[in-house]
Amino acid sequence: MRVFLKQSILSLLSRLGILDYIHNKNRHKITVLTLHGVMEKHGQSLWEPLRPQLQQSELESTLKVMSKHYNFITTEQCIGMLEGKVPVIEHALLLTFDDGYRNTIDYALPICEKFGIKPLLFIATGHIDSGKPFWFDRLDYALQQNMGSIISIEHEGVDYTFDATTRETLKVCYQQFRDDCKKSFNDDIKMNHLFNGLSRKLEIRSGKALSDISHDDDWSSTAPWFLLREVVKKNRIDVASHTVDHWRLNSLTEEQILFQLQQSKIRIEKELGIKCDYFCYPNGNYNTLAINLVKKSGYIAAFSTDAGLCDKHDDLMTLKRLHFPLNKTVKEIFYQFNR
Ligand SMILES: [Zn+2]
Repeated sequence: MRVFLKQSILSLLSRLGILDYIHNKNRHKITVLTLHGVMEKHGQSLWEPLRPQLQQSELESTLKVMSKHYNFITTEQCIGMLEGKVPVIEHALLLTFDDGYRNTIDYALPICEKFGIKPLLFIATGHIDSGKPFWFDRLDYALQQNMGSIISIEHEGVDYTFDATTRETLKVCYQQFRDDCKKSFNDDIKMNHLFNGLSRKLEIRSGKALSDISHDDDWSSTAPWFLLREVVKKNRIDVASHTVDHWRLNSLTEEQILFQLQQSKIRIEKELGIKCDYFCYPNGNYNTLAINLVKKSGYIAAFSTDAGLCDKHDDLMTLKRLHFPLNKTVKEIFYQFNR
């Protein structure tokens, strides 16, 4: 019923020309989109994460729709336009990929290139250095190796249960667990400790760990430095910082924030031979201290997950982004981007 109502409203707005009007009204603003991993299950897939993944076919079909109504720009053009240093490109759109998954380069980049897109990739340098998967992927895999019943694990005196009767029940349960953790922990180092503690116990139970397969796992592996060097050298992608450990900056002390900002910048500049001018807040979280330290660390601009379009007078330290639309029509995309 809700879907039907939404479609009816969209049809009406479209017939009245309102969607075209707002799309045109915002032509001088910049749309920055957020994506993560891009992958679909294939013959060699050893597992499949519980969280939804964007498939290559979905990426391609949506880019095809957007290419008719938007002009894809680079990060340099985006910041230059916001600073008023380069002429405005109407209906400008920038694609950003968070977290530095290798599948961004292997699967998403070739599709982006079909549309002349040079995206911006945000990497957490500690994960690139260690080759270790993210803690949320580690626990996801560990839970899935213990499917079939209610999983109960004790960690530091607290019992945690996950309904792993079916993939669907586990999916709901794991999402809830992650949301609850984000809310209840104001210290990401402690949250990390819990995820890793639970994972370790489950890995002992099943005898299987994501780190055993992550080096050639398309879902969870991060892009190694040599691959990043190759694509940066060929001018196919821009790379910027997403901290060292992917910890939320508003959960850290001043010293810890500075380490995350400066160390990741140093690693990127040393390994890739580029200037690391841009930053992306993990989970979109920031506070005044974090903003000041981003500036102090020498970054020119920082991207958040606050929803909206970017405009010339916006604060470069908290640039807005929007989620990449999934299986949407032009009408739906105009509506989603211009609300
Ligand atoms: Zn992230």
